[in-house]
Amino acid sequence: MNGQVWSRALITGGAGFVGSHLCARLLDAGTAVVCLDNLATGSRANVADLEPRPGFRFVRGDATDPEALAGLPGRFDLILHFACPASPVDYLRLPLETLDVGSTGTRLALERAHADGARFVLASTSEVYGDPLEHPQREGYWGNVNPVGPRSVYDESKRFAEALVTAHRGARGTDTAIVRIFNTYGPRMRTGDGRAVPTFVTQALDGMPLTVAGDGGQTRSLCYVDDTVDGVLALAASAETGPVNIGGDDEITMLELARRIIELTGSASRVRHVGRPVDDPARRRPDTRLARERLGWRPRVGWSEGLERTVGWFSRSAAA
Ligand code: NAD
Repeated sequence: MNGQVWSRALITGGAGFVGSHLCARLLDAGTAVVCLDNLATGSRANVADLEPRPGFRFVRGDATDPEALAGLPGRFDLILHFACPASPVDYLRLPLETLDVGSTGTRLALERAHADGARFVLASTSEVYGDPLEHPQREGYWGNVNPVGPRSVYDESKRFAEALVTAHRGARGTDTAIVRIFNTYGPRMRTGDGRAVPTFVTQALDGMPLTVAGDGGQTRSLCYVDDTVDGVLALAASAETGPVNIGGDDEITMLELARRIIELTGSASRVRHVGRPVDDPARRRPDTRLARERLGWRPRVGWSEGLERTVGWFSRSAAA
C-alpha cells in the first residue's frame, strides 16, 4: 500500500461488495476501521469475518443522516465514501436514496473529512461517461449521459458528487480525490443484484439458461476486486486529486463472458438472449494511463483467473 498506513479510516458503504474488501485490506495494513452502512444493499455477513478483529467497528447508520456522521467519535485520517446503491437493480429500486447519498451523503462525508483534516476519496464510476462517444474513455472525456433516462439517478448522482468534491477542494481546501471505478467483480457480489458476473455464475451453477442482453456484443472491461482495491488505496496514498480511472484493460463481450462462465462451471446451461435495458452502454473500456503513470498501478489479475476465483467463491457459498 505504498508504505502509507493511516491510523483510523471511515468507510461509508463498508458492508457492501467493494467496501468490505477495502475494510479487510486496511485492517490487514494496521489501520483501525469504522464501517458506516445502512445495509440498504450491503450485508452484515460481508464483514462478519472482520467483526471480531480488534480495530474494526461496524456502525449501522445512514450516510445522509448528519448525526450519524458527525456523531462518530474520534478523528479519522482517511474517509472513503463508498456508500451508494451500485447495481442497476438496486438503484432503480432506490432512485431517491441513490440521489441523496450522492448529494447529501457526499456533502456530509466531505464536511467530516474537512473537520478531521482527513484524506477523502469519492467512489465515482465509469457511468459518469454514460454511453460513451469516445473509446477508450480517458478522464478528460465529459461523457454522454441522458439526465432524465432511467440510469440518470445513478449517473447524475455521481456526477453531482464529483462536482461537490471538486468545489469542496477549491472552496475549503479539503484533501480530496476522485476514483472512477469501472466494472469490478469478485467474491461477495450479491446473487440477484442484476450485474452480469453474479447473474451468469448463479445461473450456470443452477443449470439455468444464462440471460444475455441483446445479441451479447456489448463489451465491458472487468477488473478483479483486489486490483480495484489496490487502485483505490494507491490513489488515497498519493497526492493526486483525480479523477483517476481504475479498471480492467481486457474488453470482453457479454456473450464471451457467458460462454467462459459456462466452461468454468462445467454447466450444461445454454445462453438465452433477452431484451437489452434502455441506455445500456454499448462499449466500455477505461484508458488507465493516468493510474499507471501517476500511481504506478496496473491490474494484475486477468479475467480468466479472476473468474475462476469468483466461480470458486460462489460454488462454496452455494454449498455452505
Ligand atoms: P454495494 O451495493 O455492494 O455497496 C454499497 C454499500 O453502500 C452497501 O453496503 C449499502 O448498504 C451501502 N449504502 C447505500 N446507501 C447508503 C447510505 N445512505 N448510508 C450508508 N450506507 C449506504 O456496491 P459496490 O459494488 O460495493 O459499490 C461500492 C461503491 O463503488 C459505490 O459507491 C459504487 O457506486 C462504486 N462503484 C462500484 C463499481 C462496481 O463495479 N462494483 C463500479 C463503479 C463504482
